[in-house]
Amino acid sequence: MIRIENLEFRYAAEAPPVLCSVDAQIDDGQYVALIGPNGCGKTTLAKHLNGLLTPTSGDIWVDGMNTKDSSTVKDLRRAVGMVFQNPDNQMVGMTVEEDLAFGPGNLRLPAAEIGRRVEEALQVVGLAGYEKRPTHTLSGGEKRLVAIAGVLAMQPRYLVFDEPTSFLDPAVKRRILNVIRKLNESGIAIIHVTHDMGEIIESDRVLVMAEGRISLAGTTGDVLSRVEELKAMGLGPPQVTELMWRLRQSGQDVQETILTIDEAVKKISSLILRTSGPGGDGARSGV
Ligand code: ADP
Repeated sequence: MIRIENLEFRYAAEAPPVLCSVDAQIDDGQYVALIGPNGCGKTTLAKHLNGLLTPTSGDIWVDGMNTKDSSTVKDLRRAVGMVFQNPDNQMVGMTVEEDLAFGPGNLRLPAAEIGRRVEEALQVVGLAGYEKRPTHTLSGGEKRLVAIAGVLAMQPRYLVFDEPTSFLDPAVKRRILNVIRKLNESGIAIIHVTHDMGEIIESDRVLVMAEGRISLAGTTGDVLSRVEELKAMGLGPPQVTELMWRLRQSGQDVQETILTIDEAVKKISSLILRTSGPGGDGARSGV
């Protein structure tokens, strides 16, 4: 479990705080989305989770390790893997295999174990057989997947993704999001930093940040149903949520939280059937 307790952070002693009174908890195996407008402090918070930054005041505990404790920093970095926005910054090897072997190599694991981890990590991200590929020949999407595999080869219990799909086309985006979901299903807790509301529907919980504070937190359904609050914070809700909200506003019976297109289609069909059935008039229902 990760516990964030009354975290405050300043980049310089005289600078204003970038993070203020942040309290949060991430349970084992949970998928948590951290969302908020650009500049609100998401990356700064994410970098605290594996000790790349340490609190100016307050504490962060990861499975009982305080991120300020230099004696446990190696274990902390193994427990919490980070995948950054720009994969080029994370690539160290000439080939995919070399790149993925770098982290486990630093742990002085036996060569056979390193080979096994590299192969397994490539399988998980859907790049089996890429071992010998020179890293400079990879596409943008493949580089991101290799960066994810590199972190996976360290067998983390938590994975932090900072804007993992930025600047990717929709098909590659979907591929990355599917990999993240699969990793979560395998038991790894996910912290997914994004400013894109459309990306968070797979998460269990959402933390919404505004100006360095957690301004809203709850289950994904709860948070997404608070359309007006989200809009006031400059966050556009996903299209499905917005559509359902508009139907509710126009007096339609939409009480439940609907997050996916399939659920929305079912709901709209039922509303149409209800009003165009015996005695109804679908044409006048406004649906
Ligand atoms: P987000 O990830 O939500 O876009 P960031 O955590 O990157 O937000 O930035 C939060 C604030 O901290 C911004 O005002 C940004 O300019 C500032 N900031 C980020 N990195 C640094 C840094 N290395 N030094 C000083 N200020 C920084």
